[in-house]
Amino acid sequence: MSISLTQGMRTVQIDFPPSSAIFDSRPFPAVVADRGPPLSRSALRKIFVDAKSGELLSVHNPHDDSLVSDKIHAAGPEDVDAAVKAAHKAFKGDWGRKDPTDRAKAMLKFADLIREKAGEIAALETKAMGSAVATQTMGYNVGADLFTYYAGLADKIHGEAAYPSSAGKYKIIQREPIGVCAGIGAWNVSAVLFAWKAAPALAAGNTVIYKPSEKAPLGTLALGPLIQQCFPPGVINIVNGAGKTGQLLAAHMEIRQIAFTGSTATGRKIQEAAAKSNLKRVSLELGGKSPSLIFDDADLELAVSKSMEGIVANTGQICAMASRIFVQESIADNFIELLKGTFETASKGNMIGDPSLADTQVGPLADKAQFKRVMEYLEIGKKDGQLVTGGIQRGTNGLFVEPTIFKNTPNGSRIVQEEVFGPVVTVQTFKTEEEAVQMANDTVFGLSACIYTKSISRALRVTRDMEAGTIAVNDWYFPAPDTPFGGVKQSGYGREGGLEGLNEYLQTKTIQIK
Ligand code: NAD
Repeated sequence: MSISLTQGMRTVQIDFPPSSAIFDSRPFPAVVADRGPPLSRSALRKIFVDAKSGELLSVHNPHDDSLVSDKIHAAGPEDVDAAVKAAHKAFKGDWGRKDPTDRAKAMLKFADLIREKAGEIAALETKAMGSAVATQTMGYNVGADLFTYYAGLADKIHGEAAYPSSAGKYKIIQREPIGVCAGIGAWNVSAVLFAWKAAPALAAGNTVIYKPSEKAPLGTLALGPLIQQCFPPGVINIVNGAGKTGQLLAAHMEIRQIAFTGSTATGRKIQEAAAKSNLKRVSLELGGKSPSLIFDDADLELAVSKSMEGIVANTGQICAMASRIFVQESIADNFIELLKGTFETASKGNMIGDPSLADTQVGPLADKAQFKRVMEYLEIGKKDGQLVTGGIQRGTNGLFVEPTIFKNTPNGSRIVQEEVFGPVVTVQTFKTEEEAVQMANDTVFGLSACIYTKSISRALRVTRDMEAGTIAVNDWYFPAPDTPFGGVKQSGYGREGGLEGLNEYLQTKTIQIK
């Protein structure tokens, strides 16, 4: 089985099975061929390894249901143990004690290589989970930016010293790496989820084992040859697999920290496995049902276009998407009419379609399970509320749905309370600021929120009262490398991005000298 991706004059062929990529020096079967210039098979042998579990996974293209690969190896207990061993050896050896400037150089080189290959690797994400290639290319570029950002922090990890003290002791507070850190990601923006974890972990001097989602493993695996060019063996290890493999990581006795991005239901299982094994540190980036509050003094055109962007981007498969709109009663009819018009214009144009085309912005949903889930929520919306536009499958080929708006949905409805993860939004109305805040906070989630108003004092008042980890004023929330991203309530805890993201991967040691 092989995939050929053509970009300009260059053809990249990826031969499968790609499997657990564990970076030590054992001979492994070659699985990636890159024509132009080709990587030697002996070089590839050092990169990919067949899983000892013998278990294989399949990926289908949600655009046309074609088989992408049915030979993707899934790591079992022996494979995960091998990855942990390699990561531990690298931590205790060269990487853990490397001069931080050298760590930074390796990370900067990796960032440059990712940028160079972003389009080609993004095409693999598109084949596996249907997201527009433009969106995924941006994702790989953001991933590269995260490595650049954290490379800049590698040599700025400082401690504290205190003297004299009442006890006459000199005190040193050191911040040190934790050891072997694991990451598990969802499928919607593989590159960002990987870089959010691996980049700060490496900058702090840890080593990493990362499991991409079984729905979109190919792009992360294609980083293998780039990783090998930049880092010593064992520093970054990619293990494939579904939930079973993730559980092995969460329960492993030698893994000291686990960072997870995915659903709230799986987050609970990770926390439980960590508690029942070695009490490893856990950080959880979970689901969301983010509100958008649109006040009567807002720039309506801006609120409409930003709401639309936030709802259809990545086919609505974004954790921070503002999927509950609350609009002030006096402008509600006008707002809904404008939003409906924008949705319908987008639906008629070229914006939605074949995700492998450079101009497409919205592709199909990720797979049949995701499509079924969204279609079920559309029925709930029709039963509990009023359909404004969309509400059906788009065409008959591919797992597309029409961007959908519901209005008059009661707050208790499942379409308002549960994460759909598709291009679907509910619109409710409010009379006062207090009512808007109360309705917006009436959810178990707290990942993100948007506020549209021209009043700076209202923006400050409302942001103070919103129960959310991230808030955008007059925009939809898009995370940046230099600021922390994460949720409150059942959207999780811990932060990725910014200085706080680095702190997740450091532990403190206090030394007293008499
Ligand atoms: P998911 O929870 O089904 O799977 C996420 C990952 O966990 C996958 O790699 C999967 O193999 C693994 N997994 C599944 N069961 C496991 C188990 N028992 N133990 C360990 N690992 C296990 O989520 P998904 O469908 O892949 O992704 C969609 C969800 O991710 C949505 O809820 C979305 O909001 C969330 N998400 C959150 C963020 C964020 O930053 N907060 C970002 C992207 C996606």
